[in-house]
Amino acid sequence: MGSLSGPLQDPAADAGWQDPQPRKGFFTDTSICIGCKACEVACKEWNAIPEDGLAMLGSSYDNSEALGASTWRHVAFIEQPAPAAAPGSGRASLPMPTTQRPGDALPPESRTDFRWLMSSDVCKHCTHAACLDVCPTGALFRTEFGTVVVQDDVCNGCGYCVPACPFGVIERREGDEHTKNVGIAQKCTLCYDRLGAGLTPACAQACPTESIQFGDLDELRERAAARAETLRSQGVAEARLYGASPEDGVGGSGALFLLLDEPEVYGLPPDPVVSTRDLPQMWKQAGIAALGLLAGAAATFLGGSR
Ligand code: SF4
Ligand code: SF4
Ligand code: SF4
Repeated sequence: MGSLSGPLQDPAADAGWQDPQPRKGFFTDTSICIGCKACEVACKEWNAIPEDGLAMLGSSYDNSEALGASTWRHVAFIEQPAPAAAPGSGRASLPMPTTQRPGDALPPESRTDFRWLMSSDVCKHCTHAACLDVCPTGALFRTEFGTVVVQDDVCNGCGYCVPACPFGVIERREGDEHTKNVGIAQKCTLCYDRLGAGLTPACAQACPTESIQFGDLDELRERAAARAETLRSQGVAEARLYGASPEDGVGGSGALFLLLDEPEVYGLPPDPVVSTRDLPQMWKQAGIAALGLLAGAAATFLGGSR
């Protein structure tokens, strides 16, 4: 087990790789996501993930609800009350990948007063991954690319990883006897099999707007910061980055997001903390308590033998 919290330059080297590759990750720019769900479908097809329910949710136009054992990419649809983009409102038109958006030719006062936020969520491939740290079988491991992968043929289904993840990503698969890997913990592998062959992950490859960008994490961090700055300079004051700081509670994510509102709006925890962060302190206190007990027992024994 490597370090459990704090900034960490190279998680693959920390995990013992002699020849680590540049750390790979995602930058998801939600400002240009169109909610087509091509990423969800591509992930399911490449990884042969079983169907996960097709009913529409009552609360949204979404039908896959959240990340889970059979949804490794999830596109959130958030319909949000918002004022129309009147001159001087502070709200700017985003550069969408079309020549003109529906309604752009209309005057602001005739537009509807809501907006859609769409965001494709995924495992964060945390710098400090509690799912990996608590796994007793070695089913979860850190790859040479710095990503976190679960091996379904090693997982024994104990489920320790499930509550350990601060993002609610990993889950044991449910289903009948015909379902693949029932009871086994499942999540995004960052297409470890494709990376090994020099390919782009299936979800990023399928995204028609380049909302999902894959590459070397150092370069993605710079690209994300530049994009956030560009949007803010265009009047999108709400633009912010999520998961980009190596100083955060999980040591920074391998998956960065550019958001247009608070993380909670997208169902993301505002201040995630790796659940193993306090383990060294807990072990220290348990050791002190054990020494105290031993000292008490020794005193009792010596006192009784007089
Ligand atoms: S987001 Fe959760 S499942 Fe993914 S690496 Fe981090 S702790 Fe593990
Ligand atoms: S990287 Fe691969 S496994 Fe992960 S969400 Fe994308 S397609 Fe699915
Ligand atoms: S494929 Fe790209 S544009 Fe379509 S939902 Fe996914 S992230 Fe959004």
